[in-house]
Amino acid sequence: MAKDYSKPLYNSTIWKNIIRPAVLARCHYICEIEGCCDVATEVDHIIELTPDNINDPRIACDYRNLRGLCGRHHKEKTKAEQMKQRHPELEAIMFDEHGQAVLTSPGGGRF
Ligand SMILES: [Zn+2]
Repeated sequence: MAKDYSKPLYNSTIWKNIIRPAVLARCHYICEIEGCCDVATEVDHIIELTPDNINDPRIACDYRNLRGLCGRHHKEKTKAEQMKQRHPELEAIMFDEHGQAVLTSPGGGRF
């Protein structure tokens, strides 16, 4: 579910008619997580949207920060984002070789 601050972006014509379909077409509607061949149904912000960066087009709308994900990987990413909110000391959300979303600590260790 989109957070309140991101709703204007996801409801915008440019997102719905241009950005989202372009990202899904770029990945041929296949999830972009390595080894996953499921249908991409979601467009994910690699650097996740926050109230601070939602108006930064380099984060919100740049194709380099967007990728197509299947429902399972999008759920994984969302779960990791929620954990990150509870543990702000953790840094990045990445996907490991098994397609599991992982958080890294500032030292580079896995959470
Ligand atoms: Zn996937």
